[in-house]
Amino acid sequence: MTSILKKAYDPDDFRKRGHRLIDDLADHLERTLEEKSKNTTSWNPPEKEHVFWKEFLQSGDEGQFFKEVLNHTIHLHHPKYMGHQASPTAPITALSSMVGALLNNGMAVYEMGMAPTMIEKIITDLLCAKIGFGPDASGFLTSGGTLANLTALLTARKASASYDVWNEGNSKSLGIIVSEEAHYCVDRAAKIMGLGSQGVIKIPSNAMFSMDTSLLESYYNEALAKNIEIFAVVGSAPSTATGIYDDLEALADFSERHNLWFHVDGAHGGAALFSEKYKHTLKGMDRADSMVIDGHKMMMMPMITTALLFKKEQNSYATFSQKADYLLEQSAEKDWYNSGRRTFECTKTMMCLSWYILHKTYGEELFDAFVTTLYDLGLTFGDMVKEDPQFELAVAPMSNIVCFRYKDAHLDNVETDKINLGIRKTLLEESEYYIVQTKLRGRSYLRVTLMNPFTTRKHLTSLLSRIKELAKISQT
Ligand SMILES: *Cc1c(COP(=O)(O)O)cnc(C)c1O
Repeated sequence: MTSILKKAYDPDDFRKRGHRLIDDLADHLERTLEEKSKNTTSWNPPEKEHVFWKEFLQSGDEGQFFKEVLNHTIHLHHPKYMGHQASPTAPITALSSMVGALLNNGMAVYEMGMAPTMIEKIITDLLCAKIGFGPDASGFLTSGGTLANLTALLTARKASASYDVWNEGNSKSLGIIVSEEAHYCVDRAAKIMGLGSQGVIKIPSNAMFSMDTSLLESYYNEALAKNIEIFAVVGSAPSTATGIYDDLEALADFSERHNLWFHVDGAHGGAALFSEKYKHTLKGMDRADSMVIDGHKMMMMPMITTALLFKKEQNSYATFSQKADYLLEQSAEKDWYNSGRRTFECTKTMMCLSWYILHKTYGEELFDAFVTTLYDLGLTFGDMVKEDPQFELAVAPMSNIVCFRYKDAHLDNVETDKINLGIRKTLLEESEYYIVQTKLRGRSYLRVTLMNPFTTRKHLTSLLSRIKELAKISQT
């Protein structure tokens, strides 16, 4: 064997590097969680960052690589991180991910992942029961909410459309119904499926940014009049921009009335089913045909860990009726233990290890504590913004997502947009707080997602003060 291969696989080298790295990562956790570091990130414009890593490849010190990665990334474990919907991972899941990375069991077939196959089955069965799906339910883990929503809609089409598009191709216009506030991946999935723009029936939202379900019947009839056959309805739980949940009960009623597949996109807030206090936001989820829950958003897991759950297991076997004889046994009895038959992926990661170890080590109370703490914090922040005359709250929050903007009586809408976009840009460059922005009904808003359970009222107060200071500076 050549020495370079021996070197790359040397167990002792791995041991030494591993011990050092775990120490460095534990230090990183201390620095961020306990705010020994002031900032969430150290902003570097894209061109400069590109040059840095090009030069590092040429002349950087290999021993400094992981340290530099830490220096050049955003730190989700910092309590001033309040940006996009990604979890500050529970540290134990970094270990489970590493085990998966080393063992590399691909899981398409049972032989290529005995433990993870069964671990995944146990986790998804637990989730199905928690949703209230009943004895015929089953699900699997897959690579992200985007892929899970696409997979669910493919299953929906197979189960509910009047012909088999998967095998026969498109011959008649099909469509789905969804809120205009839904995540863009639903629109993308529909386009991938060839539904076209006319096949994505977008229901306007009401003043609360929730789908206006009183419009469902008229939009449905309009689609039928245009010869579009609707096969599915998608509810957002909640929608991404505002964190407002659709009325799942109303959507379930409508779907039942017209015999449509009802899919719940709970990528962000499906995890609220673990919260005694907030599970009411998901009322009606048990009447869905399928539901998505992201582990990497509100469940402290690494990217990418997503569950797709079906009320009727058999539907998930029909999605991809493509033959791959060398992989899958062509037996009459369904080979439930070969998960690749049901997933979009052939190979996937052992993402289930993280879900299982959290469950096993801390129990469901951990998921309840995480969601409840963050949703409480979201509602608190909503109140703080509402009470301050210098701010406008877009909508009273239902979750940990809060949209608001700085306002001043003498500023018109265009100037207010400009000031808020400027504030967000300066906050990013300052790198202390991380928040994002969004557009609602054509206007620019600041958007905060409370993702870190160590964020407190104190951090929120100081964020609002900083925003006011920046607004003053930008007006002088
Ligand atoms: C984040 C999100 C998605 C996309 O999920 P990924 O895991 O990022 O692919 C889909 N729907 C909603 C409602 C989301 O919040």
